[in-house]
Amino acid sequence: MDNDYSLTSCPPCPSCGSRQILKNGSTHHKKQKFLCKECGRQFIEKPQKKQITLKEKKRVKKLLLERISLRGITRSLEISMTWLQKFVNSLYRSVPLELKEII
Ligand SMILES: [Zn+2]
Repeated sequence: MDNDYSLTSCPPCPSCGSRQILKNGSTHHKKQKFLCKECGRQFIEKPQKKQITLKEKKRVKKLLLERISLRGITRSLEISMTWLQKFVNSLYRSVPLELKEII
């Protein structure tokens, strides 16, 4: 059950910075949704995806070529398996054969 204690653990409102936040159910992806009591804004904690930089993408390619497992890559670069799988899929069309073989 929500109580005053859980209120303090909610993130501040991204619009007005208020800490008067209510828990407001969850998304399809099981992310906690919040509702700001001050301005009525609904938001999700940490909604922004981790931005994968070009440098990181290059590192991923390098690790793939070095036959590091996908799981190993997600751990070492702290990226999600979902992202990595999408990235690998997108590589399929453009990469040389030797990379395809190890995936
Ligand atoms: Zn607000």
